[in-house]
Amino acid sequence: MTTTLPAHAVGGPDLPQVRRVSTAVPGPRSNALARRRAAALPAGLASSAEVYVAAAGGGVVVDVDGNSFIDLGSGIAVTTVGNCAPAVVARATEQLRRYTHTCFLATPYEPYLEVAETLDRLTPGAFEKRTALFNTGSEAVENAVKYARAATGRPAVVVFDHAFHGRSLLTMTMTAKNRPYKHGFGPFAPEVYRAPMAYPYRWPSGPEHCAAEAFAQFAHLIDAQIGPDQVAAVVVEPIQGEGGFIVPAAGFLPAVAEFCRQRGILLVADEVQTGIARTGAWFASEHEALVPDLVVTAKGLAGGLPLAAVTGRAEVMDAAHPGGIGGTYSGNPVACAAALGVFDEIRRHDLLGRAHTLGEQMVTHLRAIAATTGVIGEIRGRGAMIAAELVHPGTTDPHHDAVTSVTRHCQRHGVLTLTAGTHGNVLRFLPPLSMPDDLLTEAFTVLGEGFASL
Ligand SMILES: *Cc1c(COP(=O)(O)O)cnc(C)c1O
Repeated sequence: MTTTLPAHAVGGPDLPQVRRVSTAVPGPRSNALARRRAAALPAGLASSAEVYVAAAGGGVVVDVDGNSFIDLGSGIAVTTVGNCAPAVVARATEQLRRYTHTCFLATPYEPYLEVAETLDRLTPGAFEKRTALFNTGSEAVENAVKYARAATGRPAVVVFDHAFHGRSLLTMTMTAKNRPYKHGFGPFAPEVYRAPMAYPYRWPSGPEHCAAEAFAQFAHLIDAQIGPDQVAAVVVEPIQGEGGFIVPAAGFLPAVAEFCRQRGILLVADEVQTGIARTGAWFASEHEALVPDLVVTAKGLAGGLPLAAVTGRAEVMDAAHPGGIGGTYSGNPVACAAALGVFDEIRRHDLLGRAHTLGEQMVTHLRAIAATTGVIGEIRGRGAMIAAELVHPGTTDPHHDAVTSVTRHCQRHGVLTLTAGTHGNVLRFLPPLSMPDDLLTEAFTVLGEGFASL
């Protein structure tokens, strides 16, 4: 049995930019697909929304029942330039007609080079760089560690509390949160050490002490416990994504970078969620003038096609021996063409500026909501990467149930949101940068009603 899609099931910016809920959510067609899913897919694959997609574009996702949702998630920070963005579709379609795959390790092609040249140019740092392409964020983070170990001859990797780096064995080990990511899946990879994150809102002695104290603990871990000459790399998200859009206390990341530089430890910025225009800069590292040795990108890089990259200092990247790095699909030509379309869209529509504007609007809307409820403990983020951390009124105790009910209210009323945070008490907002102003306002009106109904 297949479900017949509605006639308007073509995506892209021409899709009517409206919120429309004309069935129960989920509707009958989504429910039918959910029954097939339960019989065919394992339980470990969970989805946050219960509706099945028919088409998406601009700021909306249309489901198989014809409901049109305002998209505040971008498929987890992936369709930053919009779903089915014209330049992405045009470039990928043209590439599909030429060749779908040859394997770059077997027979190379130019689109790969163009993506690499662009990332070499755009990433922070005036030094000579090289880029290698992969399929997923996890795979790229894992390869960044391989480069760092090859270049330094050292084993250890230092990561932070609340970090998310992926689900493969090494990156699951680097990820902080036990459930759902790690529980039952050990033993984990060796030589991964964890330092506190400079998380101002939850720093025990107060936000004003956060940067200095977190840095002191980080330095102690490396100098006193691991040994600085054993550490290949420090891997950090310039704004923690799954951790709840934690913006490290000002000054913390520059201090970490200087510490690493003095000890020959490589600084790896995991910009999988923050990179490619999301925060109003090409890379979130730029907000604190951070110049990492290696930068990892993925999610927003190819507008929804699987593509990831490690970009870094030429001497580090060249340290891995020929044949030591690669993968059958890595740098697939259709995904590379899509990435070139993403770069076009960002430049053509000044999406860096648009990310700033959307971010300011979201903060304004959230402040207005916060004035009417006691459950918003903190509003934070940069550019179009904004979150609200929910707490029980008058405390900083995480309020997971409030996140669940606001999320459910939004979904029932035509707005798709995402959650995050070690305690699951953060609402995060990652609209596509193609989101029209009026649609964003409408989404936050619905969100406000969700808070009012708590
Ligand atoms: C999503 C994410 C990853 C993992 O990417 P996948 O493509 O899901 O493997 C790694 N790091 C960060 C910061 C992420 O947000």
